Amino acid sequence: QQSSPGEPEFYQAVEEVLESLEPLFKKEKKYSEHNIIQRIVEPERMITFRVTWIDDKGKIQVNKGYRVQFSSAIGPYKGGLRFHPSVNSGIIKFLGFEQIFKNSLTGLPIGGGKGGSDFDPKGKSDNEIMRFCQSFMTELYRHIGDTIDIPAGDIGVGGREIGYLYGQYKRLTGSYEGVLTGKKIPWGGSLARTEATGYGAVYFADSLLTSRNDQLAGKTAVVSGSGNVAIYTIKKLIEMGATPVSCSDSRGFIYHKTGINLNTLQQLKEQGKNESLEEYAKIHKDAKYTPVKDYPKGRNPVWSIKCDLAFPSATQNELNLADAKELLKNGCILVAEGANMPSTPEAVHAFLEAKILYGPGKAANAGGVATSQLEMSQNASMLQWSFEEVDGRLRNIMHNIYLSASQTAEEFGQPHNLVLGANIAGFRKVANAMIDQGAV
Ligand code: NDP
Repeated sequence: QQSSPGEPEFYQAVEEVLESLEPLFKKEKKYSEHNIIQRIVEPERMITFRVTWIDDKGKIQVNKGYRVQFSSAIGPYKGGLRFHPSVNSGIIKFLGFEQIFKNSLTGLPIGGGKGGSDFDPKGKSDNEIMRFCQSFMTELYRHIGDTIDIPAGDIGVGGREIGYLYGQYKRLTGSYEGVLTGKKIPWGGSLARTEATGYGAVYFADSLLTSRNDQLAGKTAVVSGSGNVAIYTIKKLIEMGATPVSCSDSRGFIYHKTGINLNTLQQLKEQGKNESLEEYAKIHKDAKYTPVKDYPKGRNPVWSIKCDLAFPSATQNELNLADAKELLKNGCILVAEGANMPSTPEAVHAFLEAKILYGPGKAANAGGVATSQLEMSQNASMLQWSFEEVDGRLRNIMHNIYLSASQTAEEFGQPHNLVLGANIAGFRKVANAMIDQGAV
């Protein structure tokens, strides 16, 4: 930790992976002989840059921009951009590190990267967002390309931001290429990309339940977040016969016992809108809104709602040990992580000890990046596949990720431990490629 101080989330992510890899390193010496760990925890490249932009009052504003190009062992760097005031180099490195193994697990040829800025899109006008995105891309464009590094969205970056970033990339390079994913449909986007992460998390949960001869239909689910991942998790849960009863944002959460109304949620939260969930409770009188100021200290009360299934879909470390115990006490049988690293290490251990069905983020939320790769394939071949085609492939990919993680977990004698299974399966492919490619 001495060489990169002040990056707690990065160390948390690395420690989890290293702990899982112990049985693999005991079994196969080649990974130590080739110094894979020392190499893989060091990004191939970390780019930081200044982003200056003019606000609506004519004042110059400055933000930090980042792109980590973590690993290109099995394909071009691929991973989203996050715009959120909490972004710093440690957050970007944790996300980039996770991305290496997640991308490997998809079975597709994509390396690991991530980027973003401490820019806060909240309260900014459309023109301010555009000027920020243009300035961000004015620096980033020289480091990316459709076979080099292909960024996408993440927290605070959706179709609108990808549009402004893409427009600026074209202006600077004169090249119309699939350099970003999450594009809108008329200019190179893939059908089902918007839905992919949430749908994928639910497909993953379906594979988990099916393995125990169980099903989604009839189950009650709690979901956190109310952004891209949460909305499409809720949508697919409803389609598959489950009842999602909650959603949240950074200001509070909704508990709607009879089921979240998807239309209302989308009206409040999509198309660049981010209205308070308090409005939801005004429309649906039987729903209860709780603002953050009323949360018990050190707790996220979303996880105290009685449920069968939990889908953390907001942000990192949003579910701690006390929350995990509450979920278990209330009879929750499955946790599928739509967000990246939403459960603290202590919460993860509690789930594993209880032997509930637990799908870690790098497996359960890989549907987004997998579909991004399908978008790259369509761009490269100048084709557009139907929604059903992409959705069908996504479903297959999610099931294969489940199989790969669970078979690997079984191989190492811990069949219920998909953290171990996902980490080893993701790592092994990247590490073998690194050995093949020599000391680079
Ligand atoms: P969005 O920006 O669309 O939505 C994020 C949601 O989480 C918002 O409701 C936001 O509330 C809430 N949130 C964010 N930070 C916090 C916080 N600190 N405390 C409480 N609530 C918070 O992002 P996405 O839905 O795209 O991403 C959600 C998670 O899923 C992230 O962990 C992301 O890395 C992960 N993910 C996303 C993928 C994708 O394809 N989009 C792919 C794989 C993983 P508010 O608006 O009030 O801030």
